[in-house]
Amino acid sequence: MATIQFLGATRTVTGSKHLVEVDGYRTMVDCGLFQGLKELRLRNWEPFPLDPASINSVILTHAHIDHTGYLPRLARDGFVGPIYATPATVELARILLPDSARLQEEDAAYSNKAGASKHKPALPLYTERDATEALRRLESVNYHKMVRLTKKLSFEFVTAGHIIGSSFVLFDFESLDGQRKRMIMTGDLGRYNEPIIPDPSNVDEADYIVVESTYGDRDHPDFDVKAKLAEIINETARRGGHVLIPAFAVGRTQQLLYLIRELEEENRIPILPVFVDSPMAASATKLYLRHTEDHDLEMKDLLDERRNPLATKRFNLTRTIRESKNVSAEEESTIVISASGMATGGRILHHLRKRLPDERNTVIFVGFQAAGTRGRRLVDGEEAVRIFGELVPVRAHIERLDNLSAHADSREILRWLGGFKRAPEKVFLVHGEPGAQETLKDKIVEKFGWRPDTVEIPEYLQKFEL
Ligand SMILES: [Zn+2]
Repeated sequence: MATIQFLGATRTVTGSKHLVEVDGYRTMVDCGLFQGLKELRLRNWEPFPLDPASINSVILTHAHIDHTGYLPRLARDGFVGPIYATPATVELARILLPDSARLQEEDAAYSNKAGASKHKPALPLYTERDATEALRRLESVNYHKMVRLTKKLSFEFVTAGHIIGSSFVLFDFESLDGQRKRMIMTGDLGRYNEPIIPDPSNVDEADYIVVESTYGDRDHPDFDVKAKLAEIINETARRGGHVLIPAFAVGRTQQLLYLIRELEEENRIPILPVFVDSPMAASATKLYLRHTEDHDLEMKDLLDERRNPLATKRFNLTRTIRESKNVSAEEESTIVISASGMATGGRILHHLRKRLPDERNTVIFVGFQAAGTRGRRLVDGEEAVRIFGELVPVRAHIERLDNLSAHADSREILRWLGGFKRAPEKVFLVHGEPGAQETLKDKIVEKFGWRPDTVEIPEYLQKFEL
């Protein structure tokens, strides 16, 4: 008996958790936190849909919190199995999960102080100790190494091109009728021709495909992202303003550094102080340089020449709060890259409070902005946003560089699906909002001629036999 059940990232982009069960053995691909809208975040607090102790293992596609951030809670509530991940994902998780726990603890402490919680005292979803416990279960698995979970179920990782360490999970299992079947789960599908990391792997055969659909209804605008970035930096510097970039500490931050370094070397922008204001981004940047197994050829060449591909000329990694405060007090034009990417928390909030009211400044959003986030409100053009309880007027220029997203757009999803030589039995669309998923479904049916009932858009907790 083989089944898949979707415990998250159904008709939404967060909370990825997909339970695969083959003959009583349960493995869960990803264990993400729900983020964004309150009704989704509340799911993190509901009892887990099954006993965590009954899950034999977890397999991680990559380290982003919407794919790993529930692990400490799962472990706290009884999960004791191994957590498989690639070497870079293991290291990234060691940075990201304790940080996520600290945010949970800070949120709870804040609610208690403000008396904002109905629960007294407010408790964190999990603590740093829970995160440390979960991290002990991590087991590093290299790309292309087959792991036999049971006689009837094995998997391997192949590169996904999304962030460092990111992978597809390729399952080999025995189905209901005793046949060998293959299933691929993309986690987050990366982009083609991106700096630093390789393209998504081409896969040509699978019976079941679980694919993300964040940008299923959209193509990243077809403009030269580097030229646009140069233009924004030049205009802002001319106004004497600051460039503020909310960015995920892992992935986008490193890509931005790579592009800004190139622009400086090509004399296309002034040499400004560039601050990466996030201790986590600082650690992640070092890790990006170290994991050569995840580098593309250009990155390898630069490192072979003993150059640092991720350092600009006036480059600063800001670790302490004091240093961070100095950054937001800078008079000279600066470029500040800080987390979180959707401006939902983190040090970027202090910078936004300071910089948003000044029309000389520019805020550049470089990733997907989920519904309900401050980032979404800003890109939707709201005239004021609430930060730390204070209504902050938005006079700064708001720009979007959507094609810096780490997610494949609809063209790229279809390009990747085009690698399969025959129609699968099922394609499950996950990790997307409903409109994007419906559109992608139509495009798949139209482009490949696969039967419409091949493509499923699972509901929360929906289960399918394989
Ligand atoms: Zn991701």
